[in-house]
Amino acid sequence: MVKETRKKGGKFYICEECGLMYKERVWAEKCEAYCSKHHACSLAIITHAAGE
Ligand SMILES: [Zn+2]
Repeated sequence: MVKETRKKGGKFYICEECGLMYKERVWAEKCEAYCSKHHACSLAIITHAAGE
């Protein structure tokens, strides 16, 4: 399940598998689907992750 969080007034979505944060839910969902399937992160997906 992708988690939602609020930071600096913005809304972010967190992949529960790897803990990476995304601005768009769609990427968090893609990341989580990939992570749980492959037990590793996809570089193509984590480039969309939001920084701290
Ligand atoms: Zn992930």
